[in-house]
Amino acid sequence: MTTRMTPLLDRNEQFARTYTPLALAPAAAQVVVVSCLDHRVDPAIVLGLQLGDAPVIRNAGGRITQPVIDDIAYLAYLAERMFGGQGTVDRLFEVAVIHHTQCGTGFLADPAFRHQAAESTGLSESALEESAVADPHTTVKADVERLLSSPLLSPKVSVSGHVYDVATGRVTTTVDARYPEPHPA
Ligand SMILES: [Zn+2]
Repeated sequence: MTTRMTPLLDRNEQFARTYTPLALAPAAAQVVVVSCLDHRVDPAIVLGLQLGDAPVIRNAGGRITQPVIDDIAYLAYLAERMFGGQGTVDRLFEVAVIHHTQCGTGFLADPAFRHQAAESTGLSESALEESAVADPHTTVKADVERLLSSPLLSPKVSVSGHVYDVATGRVTTTVDARYPEPHPA
């Protein structure tokens, strides 16, 4: 049966023909990318990532939500537990938060649009408001701060913020990488 997946499965067949399996190892780039699920901003293509380079977490807007914080906490645990003896013990990886221009979540900054979206999808208005990216430079800074202030963030993980411009294809660093302040015991 032909479905919309058929051409993509054909591409996979081409891919598998020359594929070499990768061993489980630390991500080569030592970066975890958080970005929007928008099909115009695929980090693998925009940042030239190869298999084995970097875990990528994507959601609407590329926002630092609680599930994203949970994933990062688990990745840090796993990195330390499995690969802690290799290389720099006091540094695990950098989380690069990337928001982008022309984000489809930008509509959600408008209360009327948000209200309608909530009514027709059943999602809560506050959840929709949390995913809104109207100005990526502002939201990426807020999200870097949110992650850095989370008690779940490992002190061995640094966080940086970037904006991808859909018009130019260029990624600009908005917040330089930094480690969390030590949390009070
Ligand atoms: Zn987006």
